[in-house]
Amino acid sequence: KLHNTVQELKGNIRVFCRVRPLLPEDGTGSDMVVSYPTSTEAIERGIELVQSGQRYPFTFDKVFDHEASQQDVFKEISQLVQSALDGYKVCIFAYGQTGSGKTYTMMGSPDAPDLKGLIPRSLEQIFHTSQSLKDQGWKFNMQASILEIYNETIRDLLSSNRSSGMDQARTDNGIPGKQFTIKHDANGNTLVSDLTIVDVCSVKEISSLLQKAAQSRSVGRTQMNEQSSRSHFVFTLRICGINENTEQQVQGVLNLIDLAGSERLSRSGATGDRLKEAQAINKSLSSLSDVIFALAKKEEHIPFRNSKLTYLLQPCLGGDSKTLMFVNISPDQSSTSESLCSLRFAARVN
Ligand code: ADP
Ligand code: MG
Repeated sequence: KLHNTVQELKGNIRVFCRVRPLLPEDGTGSDMVVSYPTSTEAIERGIELVQSGQRYPFTFDKVFDHEASQQDVFKEISQLVQSALDGYKVCIFAYGQTGSGKTYTMMGSPDAPDLKGLIPRSLEQIFHTSQSLKDQGWKFNMQASILEIYNETIRDLLSSNRSSGMDQARTDNGIPGKQFTIKHDANGNTLVSDLTIVDVCSVKEISSLLQKAAQSRSVGRTQMNEQSSRSHFVFTLRICGINENTEQQVQGVLNLIDLAGSERLSRSGATGDRLKEAQAINKSLSSLSDVIFALAKKEEHIPFRNSKLTYLLQPCLGGDSKTLMFVNISPDQSSTSESLCSLRFAARVN
């Protein structure tokens, strides 16, 4: 009973925590600063962080330790992904400092089947299921878009216009470039002006889109110097289904978002562009937590308009949509204070 009430209060927001293994680059002799409670109550849901002898316990909907495989993680989200085919609007975020495993969790290593992340796995499942629903008269139409939000500016990662990265650069210098405007229509769809939207019929097609997006991300990067960790990556799949026997219709959306690194810049070091970036990231990540927090509390006013990211995702965050936040954690000693910040962020929205 209590469990039910808690679920109801929380609505459709879930938080999963994932701890990556220690890596050689964490330094030799670096200690794990996280541990997992073994009490039945907290098993698979609890995590504890130790800083200066002080213990900080947290509980989430699920905790994946450093041994959890990509498949283990996907098993826990496959139903959520499936609900996009049932007509739900779904958002899955990865939050955490740079190097904590966000991209590993979302994308993984596309070339090694075992190491594929949840974006390729989700898409495979969606196409597979949509095929098998054909027998029951279902026909699905899928459209994909991929964009990046950097310094509160949208960049189309599927644009065939190679200069779109330059437009961004000019915008950053104060000279207006291409400005994408976000609108919401009466049906609760997000429309981004001039954004490339591609009809997709197979996993293969989507894989090549993801490849193209990765490429145009790195083209931008050489001009804007290593900024992928400082931008939000947003993959959107729109699903329209119609049953030719029953005329039943569904419209679902799956948003998969690799967020900008959540780390704080040391106050002394940040000037000019770095400072501007840090402020933009802070603003959008805190807006995201404000929105999720307000939704969870069922507040009347939800501050969607405070950042591009939340405004873009507005139709997919409220109502009966479903949201999952991964909080990715680096377990090494030197990351302790960032890890604590991430866990606190996640605890706030959970
Ligand atoms: P982020 O996107 O948050 O900056 P990455 O996903 O790039 O972090 O991960 C940083 C490094 O850690 C990469 O080398 C990645 O392969 C590795 N890594 C992250 N998570 C895991 C994991 N669960 N298992 C093994 N290696 C991981
Ligand atoms: Mg990354």
